[in-house]
Amino acid sequence: MRQQSMFFKARVGEKLADVRLQANLKTAKGKFVDMRAKAVVDYNAQADADFEALRSAGEQVRRRVVENLDVWLELFEREAQARGATVLWAKDGGEICRHVLDIAERHGVRKAIKSKSMLSEEADLNAALSAAGVQPVETDLGEYILQIAGNEAPSHIIAPVMHKNVDEVADLFAKTHNKPRKTDIPALTREAREVLREHFVSAEMGISGGNFLIAESGSVALVTNEGNGRMVTTLPKVHVVVTGVEKVVPTLEDFATLMRLLPRSATGQAISNYVSLLTGTKAGGDPDGPEHMYFVLVDNGRVGLLGSEFEDMLRCIRCGACMNHCPVYQTIGGHAYGWVYPGPMGSVLTPLFTGLENALDLPHASMLCNQCGVVCPVKIPLPDLLRKLREKQTDDGLRPLSERLALRAWGWVAARPALYALAAKIGVRYLNWLAGGRDRIEVLGVAPGWTAGRDFPAPQGRTFKELYAKNRKSA
Ligand code: SF4
Repeated sequence: MRQQSMFFKARVGEKLADVRLQANLKTAKGKFVDMRAKAVVDYNAQADADFEALRSAGEQVRRRVVENLDVWLELFEREAQARGATVLWAKDGGEICRHVLDIAERHGVRKAIKSKSMLSEEADLNAALSAAGVQPVETDLGEYILQIAGNEAPSHIIAPVMHKNVDEVADLFAKTHNKPRKTDIPALTREAREVLREHFVSAEMGISGGNFLIAESGSVALVTNEGNGRMVTTLPKVHVVVTGVEKVVPTLEDFATLMRLLPRSATGQAISNYVSLLTGTKAGGDPDGPEHMYFVLVDNGRVGLLGSEFEDMLRCIRCGACMNHCPVYQTIGGHAYGWVYPGPMGSVLTPLFTGLENALDLPHASMLCNQCGVVCPVKIPLPDLLRKLREKQTDDGLRPLSERLALRAWGWVAARPALYALAAKIGVRYLNWLAGGRDRIEVLGVAPGWTAGRDFPAPQGRTFKELYAKNRKSA
């Protein structure tokens, strides 16, 4: 996927002006939020159940993984190989593609069916497969729609086609499948299923992601709401799992803890429709399953986060709750972020994976309201991480000189209370003068960018310092 995270601001403007996208986002807005809220209430209604305690347990599982990542990965490799799988390691997108193409060549693969894999997006795997003469066919409904729409990028990590409405999909299906246009969702799904069935039975290779890798059994866990994952992983003679190294968990019990969190946080379901644990190759007596199973375990920037101030991000279980609850994501959708991961988790991961200098605006694509931090099932402090990235950008000289000087001046004044109080008084007078008696300021002289798209509220009543002093006195 071509990286466009440098153009965030320009893309935001485009997305805000896109009437159809805005209507689609409005329809989707709040659905996942409401469903998660209900799932939490339902969970807490069970005897001795406390969702906050569950979040803490999930956080602890993921902390234990990150603290000893090498130990769990070595155990996983040993157990997976003992069950007939081959474990390969990829340091970046290029190596992912090389491994998958080598496997395809070794087994004479002409067609590869795929279930959802964000790592495949990181590596632009479909383009590499096509260039090598292997036809990639996406079988997750959302990903399939994006593929026939001309290899569009997903706009959400669990609902990749969130930016499209039924009418757009109906037009696309009628054009691509050359069949009468339908707008009934079950009929559209049936049509996609009929088209895909032929690919399921003719592909020689299945490529999937992996929600979790279970170290003690060498298994991969797939959590989906569509049956395509099972077909991709069991029908072709070769199954390739492409997933990040941080997806490992020590035991099946740890997996069970995270499974109580993942669907509830993602879609508000107590459990997803399909939870598959795939262990090793087809053994004697098995009616189905792959004859060859490969794991491509990917670094692509993850290992570098170990021991750093951004290590917390490795706990992410890709549930999407942070973007569902983010007012910025809700307003602009996922494509504006310009790379694989949108929303708050993407605003942290993209600069870390692709370079801070290649995603200058993303750490600022947040109001730091902490909605994301509150709902994250593994308690990743996303606003803190965004703030640290902002600090790092400033320290590394990556922000405009005017901004760095302004921040330095503000820091100097803020460290001197008397001067700060005086500056605040002057500032309030200046803003009141600009407001001219109205309660909104339409053009902010010193920062016109602020008021280019919205009014600035004029100061009302007393300053915070005055109120604090008064309350302290009366207390
Ligand atoms: S950062 Fe947290 S909320 Fe966001 S996708 Fe990852 S686990 Fe889910």
